[in-house]
Amino acid sequence: MLSPVLAGVYIDGHWRAGGEQLTVINPSTEERLAIVTGGDARAVDDAVQAAREAFGAWSKTTGAARAMILRKIAHGVAARRERLIELQSSNNGKPGFEAAIDVDDVIGTFNYYAELAEASDGQQNRAVELPSDEFTARLRREPCGVVGLIVPWNFPMVTTAWKLAPALAAGCCVVLKPSEVTPLAELELAQIIAASGLPTGVFNVVCGTGLAVGAPMSGHPGIAKVSFTGSNAVGVQVMQRAAETVKGVSLELGGKSSLLVLADADLDLAVELASGGGFFNAGQMCSATSRVLVANELLEPFLERIVAKARSIKVAAPQDEGAEMGPLVNKAQYQRVIAHIEAGKDTGARLLCGGKRPADQPRGYFLQPAVFSHVPLDSALWREEIFGPVVCVRGFSSEAEAIALANDSQFGLVASVVGRDAATTERVANALQAGLVWINAPQVIFPQTAWGGYKQSSLGRELGPWGMQAFQEIKHVVRAV
Ligand code: NAD
Repeated sequence: MLSPVLAGVYIDGHWRAGGEQLTVINPSTEERLAIVTGGDARAVDDAVQAAREAFGAWSKTTGAARAMILRKIAHGVAARRERLIELQSSNNGKPGFEAAIDVDDVIGTFNYYAELAEASDGQQNRAVELPSDEFTARLRREPCGVVGLIVPWNFPMVTTAWKLAPALAAGCCVVLKPSEVTPLAELELAQIIAASGLPTGVFNVVCGTGLAVGAPMSGHPGIAKVSFTGSNAVGVQVMQRAAETVKGVSLELGGKSSLLVLADADLDLAVELASGGGFFNAGQMCSATSRVLVANELLEPFLERIVAKARSIKVAAPQDEGAEMGPLVNKAQYQRVIAHIEAGKDTGARLLCGGKRPADQPRGYFLQPAVFSHVPLDSALWREEIFGPVVCVRGFSSEAEAIALANDSQFGLVASVVGRDAATTERVANALQAGLVWINAPQVIFPQTAWGGYKQSSLGRELGPWGMQAFQEIKHVVRAV
């Protein structure tokens, strides 16, 4: 069957064909799903130009008008829910239940920022109290301009919605660069947005590789702010290029997060949460709790149960009955994760299960979930983001040791705590250097709570009012009475 050739550039309301051909694959079959034609630095120039022209009118619309469009987009996503789930499953390899969570998250995010956009009308020009009656002051929040959004492949539509919805709500115009690995859901989203009544030029898409499109976006003088989600190495490059024009930058980068199982924890719950935190999305999560710290008295039974759990996970293509974990996203990622596992074994760490291709999956980038123990604290396995279904388990003898181990990382995105005593779990949560801590809970994310972390995991926060403020300038107007 011939793969469809899809235009991957959408500028000023028009789709553009031609340009570099990007091959998009299905990681379950290794077969080609589509060819997407990408853009280059010139397309970025054109997209920025269109966005700048649209900015004058869009930036002056009311929050209520913007909210109406955001709700239409949410409605359009809901109407194409099944199609978007299917695209996520075929392009990313996510099982249907995981892809459905992504699509519902996108709907929730657009609706949430519709509310915030609407509420912003009543907050504009708010009076500021001054210690003088000779002056008055008012506060305005204004859209920062044309923004460049660069997103990765692991939760493509979700990471896009977390940037796009607040940027539009704030009154910014957008140039979006999807990941060249997984552009299909974003192209569908672009069709939905094109039909939403959003004025042309406000939203533009330029698919392409990081070098062809992401790099020129990061340095573009017409872009006021770049919001990037991806690897630390690329995040640093984006920041360096953005520095040339003193551009605002938001970064959502890597993680090496911990899940702490305290001595009084419900063991079944701990295993369930450790499995979800390590193996959801085949472990390809910046928030993966890939370091599991277990109170020594629970270590042996925990290891026994997490290994049994990992062995029981059905690794299969999304369309297969009962599939619980899909493949890794592509060959490069598959080889990277396997290399990490092999290097980990060489350090003396013990691979207790998994880390190999399942016998019943001869094709596709499938990997059995892996559990390691005895992982040296200075090894890459313990310290670096693996971005695959690999969990390292280690015992601890005191609360202080557990906290110190968890905080001993260049990253600080999220953490999980499992334990029965409320005071202890709250105290431990407060001591962890992470932007979001879950207590006895799976990795639920609400648009109302911020996303982002400490240290080298993030610069800024997404979601909540902070996600919208990231696309706003603050202006005070002070008048002599
Ligand atoms: P990546 O850094 O390779 O690519 C991310 C995006 O940047 C892609 O669109 C890519 O084309 C683009 N890009 C590549 N080179 C570029 C350059 N020189 N200039 C500008 N853009 C460039 O990351 P990935 O492999 O797609 O995604 C995995 C990484 O993303 C992991 O490290 C993961 O932790 C991180 N991530 C973080 C979060 C978070 O919220 N903190 C969420 C999801 C993923």
